[in-house]
Amino acid sequence: MSDADKGGLSELLRQQTILARFGELALRSDDLGEILTESCRLVGEALGTDLAKVVELQEDGQTLLVRAGVGWKPGVVGVATIKAADDTSEGHALKTGKPLISPDIATETRFKYPPFLTENGVRAVANVIIIIIGGKGRPPYGILQIDSRTPREFTEADTAFLSGYANLLAATVDRLRVIGELRGGEARRRVALEAQVAERTAALAGSNAQLDAFAYTVSHDLRAPLRAMEGFARILLDDYAGPLGDKGGRYAERIVAAAERMEGLIDALLAYSQLQRQEAKVRAVDPTPMALRAADEARTGHEGAIKIEVATPLLPVLAEPVVLGQVLTNLIGNAAKFRREGVPVHVAVRAEQRAGRVRIWVEDDGIGIAPEHQARIFNVFERLHGQEAYPGTGIGLAIVRKGAELMGGSCGVESELGHGSRFWIELADGRNEADYAHIEEGKKD
Ligand code: ADP
Repeated sequence: MSDADKGGLSELLRQQTILARFGELALRSDDLGEILTESCRLVGEALGTDLAKVVELQEDGQTLLVRAGVGWKPGVVGVATIKAADDTSEGHALKTGKPLISPDIATETRFKYPPFLTENGVRAVANVIIIIIGGKGRPPYGILQIDSRTPREFTEADTAFLSGYANLLAATVDRLRVIGELRGGEARRRVALEAQVAERTAALAGSNAQLDAFAYTVSHDLRAPLRAMEGFARILLDDYAGPLGDKGGRYAERIVAAAERMEGLIDALLAYSQLQRQEAKVRAVDPTPMALRAADEARTGHEGAIKIEVATPLLPVLAEPVVLGQVLTNLIGNAAKFRREGVPVHVAVRAEQRAGRVRIWVEDDGIGIAPEHQARIFNVFERLHGQEAYPGTGIGLAIVRKGAELMGGSCGVESELGHGSRFWIELADGRNEADYAHIEEGKKD
């Protein structure tokens, strides 16, 4: 191999190495300024000129701004502009879309050059101009220019290298534009969303004032006479058992039971009205410990009659932990409660992924629900059974629906009378949330 061949080979190797280094940076960094400056430094190094710049085409389609560069005095990068007229090498390159070499400014007759080139000690310039194509249907991003302080012929290998280099740079600029557009879109969506939240908050503030009054009335005004009824009925039972007789005693017991039930109703209504007022701040939560706790509560004292299996771990969801706990407690509690008389019930709790969301199923093989009743049972006080067979307040499923809505989710049921029920709640997938730390916190809730 001749010395010239050896020199050419080592030159090629250097250029390939630099291409690889730039490729690595182009993939790693999301900072356009850093990428452009580094691309100038590396290309200057590859061709031994130590002088390069990227000029960016402005919106008018004619002005080129020196966006990045190395080897220049202050006042060029970020400041100097070039008009892409026909008598400039830049204008010509933009028009033809091809690399343009001007080996010696002193003898160049085709183009005019801007004064800042000579001011920077560039006596003769060899510009290799590469158009960076910005992407399909869009104008070029700009031009990559390699300047030289001595006249210089650029070889075919140099031009080929620069074309590859500029293509890589074009792809990188395009990638960053897409990221920028995505981020812009995300920001815009957030600003819509925020306006909606503000509107809802204002509407809620009004109804919250009414709810406050309602909750106050329920808790104070109704509770007091209720306690009086219950208290006096107990006194009758304790101190007047003789004169009351068996029948009178049974009536007094029924007054106590009714008062207790009404207290339960008041508690449930208050829980519901508080839920209405709540501003649900959702975060990534692991529902597994909540489901296990609800299952434990439901089967306590009925171990033979209630079998509950939780397919652990369930999937993380975006939720407010207290509200999610209430929802799961109601669903699992109902599944355990509405069992066929004398037949053990099997309850299964499991989670499944559905297009970016997570659905938690609570399935039972209990009494089931006829289709015509399935919609209304989610309303407050809607019950399908008497207190004797299945005690309850009729508020549990209203809490489930309100809770699901508060957390940006939904709920529903699939069932057939006599063939069990499959209740579900669907929430945003907790794994979409960048902050996984909360999942661990959720386990402690
Ligand atoms: P409660 O359980 O206090 O009666 P809910 O609002 O939780 O009130 O439920 C409303 C009604 O929906 C229940 O009274 C019952 O008729 C029906 N229901 C709820 N869950 C089930 C279930 N798993 N199986 C059968 N019926 C159910």
